[in-house]
Amino acid sequence: MQLQEKIFNAGVVGAGGAGFPAHVKAKSKVEFVLANGAECEPLIHKDYELMLHFPKEILNGLDLLIESTGAKRGYFGIKEKNTKAVSAISKHLNGKTELTKLGDFYPSGDEFELVYEATKRLIPPAGIPLDIGCVVNNVETLYNIALAEKEIPVTKKFICVAGAVKKPSSFFVPVGTSLKDVIEFAGGSKISEFGIFVGGVMMGHLSFDLNDVITKTTAGIIVLPKDHYLIKRKNQPEQNWHRIGKSACDQCSYCTEFCPRYLLGYQVEPHKVMRSIGFTKTGAAVWNEMAELCCSCGLCTLYACPEDLYPKEACDKAKVEMREAGIKFIQQKEVKVHPIKEGRRVPLQQLIMKLKLQDYDFEAPFNSKAISVGKVKILLQQHIGKSAQAIVKKGESVKEGQIIGKVPDGELGANIHASISGKVKEVTADSIFIES
Ligand code: SF4
Ligand code: SF4
Repeated sequence: MQLQEKIFNAGVVGAGGAGFPAHVKAKSKVEFVLANGAECEPLIHKDYELMLHFPKEILNGLDLLIESTGAKRGYFGIKEKNTKAVSAISKHLNGKTELTKLGDFYPSGDEFELVYEATKRLIPPAGIPLDIGCVVNNVETLYNIALAEKEIPVTKKFICVAGAVKKPSSFFVPVGTSLKDVIEFAGGSKISEFGIFVGGVMMGHLSFDLNDVITKTTAGIIVLPKDHYLIKRKNQPEQNWHRIGKSACDQCSYCTEFCPRYLLGYQVEPHKVMRSIGFTKTGAAVWNEMAELCCSCGLCTLYACPEDLYPKEACDKAKVEMREAGIKFIQQKEVKVHPIKEGRRVPLQQLIMKLKLQDYDFEAPFNSKAISVGKVKILLQQHIGKSAQAIVKKGESVKEGQIIGKVPDGELGANIHASISGKVKEVTADSIFIES
């Protein structure tokens, strides 16, 4: 069986982002394969721990991809400050891959940034790395590819639990484990009233529901007191983001000046997008265009804006409006790195201070103890593409690793497997519940 087929069968998706099905990348033909170990979400350290403890498996996954894509070289993006991980990875490097050592900036894990740092090539506007002969995979995806080669499917997720928990740590949990259980595995919350950032404070979402579950793309969760600055900001009703912005934005343009995509040479100008919320009847569409190439990194809202406004959210809104109106912005200007780019990069420690997270800035060491849970809720849509279709029924017994959801024929998607052995308790339109 070919590697791409094994990856497809194992249900491997991008573990570090939106969950792009990994078999598609494995069947492409490229010049370079990049490993993304540039973890940059504040407080999340799971990729660091994975590189420290499983370097051989990660590099095995990378080598398999280099071979299947016919690439001439691999690049391994890793932060220079993570000396122990650099040394663990270096010990297993062969002649095909070289390290791309990165500074400790946000968002150095953005693929556009990483591809540029490693190859000095710029992805075309609205393009993908494949357009310039590259594929990029997060280190956990590579780890899962190494397992897929041995026909082991994705049933566990490596996550980091940080913030106001008693034992910030990183560990494997069955896909579909509740947030309540994972917080308990990290020693429990230190506080009674809290909110949970799922996937990180910059690019994740805020949840107050302990029954929410871990998916194949959850990098980690951050527990913070309900009255923390970030929870108060994120928890504002959506109409407030835009209402306040309409009256308070003085067009200082700091949001644009710090935007990493703008600094790479793409036409992303959030200060102009902010105009669109004041010009909803005339001209909104013109300014909305300046959001099309935004990667939603959140830097403009959470770091750059001196008025605590919501330019990132204005960009998100603009992108939706553009899609609904069927408008696609095509950048005509050549993509050219801004001469001031290096001087405007945002050090992670500075970002942590700005976000008022310094009291939670701890390591999250790997806990290798096998974690078992009594029940899981496995979502059928954990990836880009079509939702998987359940192939099990209520009352059926399933074994860990058994396929329970299949990609509809001919569609882009990923298979779903039982993450624990037990009985199917319920099958709904979007989830399969299993209890042991
Ligand atoms: S940084 Fe804030 S105030 Fe300045 S232009 Fe951007 S949104 Fe407006
Ligand atoms: S979220 Fe803001 S800073 Fe980040 S890419 Fe979009 S516009 Fe730029």
